[in-house]
Amino acid sequence: MRQTLIAGNWKLNGTKQSIIELLAGISAGLNNSMNASVAVCAPYIYVPLVETALKDSDISLGAQDVSAHTSGAYTGEVSASMLAEFSCEYCLVGHSERRSLHIETDAEVATKFKMLKDQGITPVLCVGESLEERDQGVTEDVVKQQILAVIDAHGISALENAVIAYEPVWAIGTGRTATPDQAQEVHASIRVLLESFDKTIAETTQILYGGSMNPANASALLAMPDIDGGLIGGASLKADDFLAICQAA
Ligand code: 13P
Repeated sequence: MRQTLIAGNWKLNGTKQSIIELLAGISAGLNNSMNASVAVCAPYIYVPLVETALKDSDISLGAQDVSAHTSGAYTGEVSASMLAEFSCEYCLVGHSERRSLHIETDAEVATKFKMLKDQGITPVLCVGESLEERDQGVTEDVVKQQILAVIDAHGISALENAVIAYEPVWAIGTGRTATPDQAQEVHASIRVLLESFDKTIAETTQILYGGSMNPANASALLAMPDIDGGLIGGASLKADDFLAICQAA
């Protein structure tokens, strides 16, 4: 049985003050009746602050991106080993905002994925199609290609203890969420793809849905058999909304 994971992606939001308040609100509201494990992916600069705030908490710390390099002349970048020093358990790779705004290729995403694995950080591999690709009927091909880039580069064993997040680009920050059936269809296709390589990895890999998930739609999405959690953007910035999604799991 796969554990449900609810992860907040704060993106480029927050202040020292607001983050402390948000974490206090989430911590106060979490309780044992919730079925989900919980993580927050903070902007790099706040990672040490969040690490301290989450000491003795069940909430896991994550980052939003990582360098494809281990060290050297890469101004502005943060390596996987640096994140590991601050107890980062998770790190997103290949978020569609990185792919589109920073022109990250599948090959670069695969390298970043491996950097995290090598440091014992769980990569959350983000995949998803644009609206144009959905309209062309190539959603599953696009998602498959994004996952195969990692498998081809590093082997199926790289996906052991990794997380995949299906985030249709047209649903991110738009308020237009995939229907539970639309999401389930893609999640199931991802599981079939993994199964063609390794049955155990297919059965154990958590596949999260992301894209305008909110307290109103979370329970229907999370009830689908192959949706193992959520990657939450906007709704992760309000403790009540985030907790309501955790409660829906
Ligand atoms: P929203 O929940 O704001 O649509 O963002 C989803 C997302 O991109 C999470 O990584």
